[in-house]
Amino acid sequence: MPSPESYFPADYRQARKAFIAACEKAGIDSIARVHPSAKGPDGKPLFIDSAALGPRHAKKALLLIAGTHGVEGYFGSAAQSGLLRQGLAPPAGARVVLVHALNPYGFAWDRRVNEDNVDLNRNYVDHAHPPDNPDYALLAEAIAFSDADPQSVAAADAKLAAYGRAHGTPALREAICRGQYRFPHGLHFGGTTESWSHRMLRAILAEDLARVEKLVVIDFHTGLGESGAGEMIVEAMPDSAHYARARAMWGAMATSSETGEAVSGPLTGTMDQAVAGWLPKVELTYAALEVGTSSFQTVFDALRRDNWLHYFAQDQRLAPEIGRQIRAAFYPDTPAWKRAVFAHAERAVQGALAAL
Ligand SMILES: [Zn+2]
Repeated sequence: MPSPESYFPADYRQARKAFIAACEKAGIDSIARVHPSAKGPDGKPLFIDSAALGPRHAKKALLLIAGTHGVEGYFGSAAQSGLLRQGLAPPAGARVVLVHALNPYGFAWDRRVNEDNVDLNRNYVDHAHPPDNPDYALLAEAIAFSDADPQSVAAADAKLAAYGRAHGTPALREAICRGQYRFPHGLHFGGTTESWSHRMLRAILAEDLARVEKLVVIDFHTGLGESGAGEMIVEAMPDSAHYARARAMWGAMATSSETGEAVSGPLTGTMDQAVAGWLPKVELTYAALEVGTSSFQTVFDALRRDNWLHYFAQDQRLAPEIGRQIRAAFYPDTPAWKRAVFAHAERAVQGALAAL
């Protein structure tokens, strides 16, 4: 069997090829949905590809989503292609649906956001009445600085540190990460309308999971937690049935984002909430498999510099350097990290399949 490292792609284009080839080898067809406007750095079209194993009318299913956050897709893509190559198969009567590169723009350009600077995992709100994030508003200029000279960045950092001292580090991180709908050139912007990827995900669910009564979702992410560590983050309180199901599948890997035990705090407009809303009668167990890469500060600084480059820089001289920085922040290109995180993916998928 090939080593897990060999499943990790060099870029979006290679990831897509590997996914389609793995589907062919597994004897299933993949379906391509072309992005209506965005193109990759090579000038070519971008796609969400999806595929399914098992009967169309299955009542139980596992949904695997890769590349919700673009540049985090190296991991999710490797998990999907690698598990397919290793013979991924649903139990009798169940279905496995794979969605590859939900945010193909971000994947192709090594960015976490989509073509409109939208964080897809904050996009699923009522855009006529988006949630407010007054703490982000207070810190907006310090979070997403418009001036990258060292003195200005130091002043921005000092402002954030003061907030952290006054309210605690978890509150500071929540202000930054929770999601915001007022600053289109800021971080964790949830958008002003339903994104293309959002519509495509809903369409895939309607086509591929129409009859499902019991659904497990694993959405692959990177960037939070200790390097190589993995958590199944569930948006549910520990006393809920949802959380109990996650614990039964994943043991201590399952953590709640609502209590401070997970590497992520509460968020707004997530896909968890969207899928629950689209499939109200389904017994849904939804987890983000979050694997760590670098420190919070390292990842945060990469996101701020990438944001500055795209919206505030006078020129693009620093584009190659910042591109390498953000890619490294979400994708540590080392054999040890790849083996560790692929093992988390294997365990997560095995736990879900056993529960089906
Ligand atoms: Zn993510």
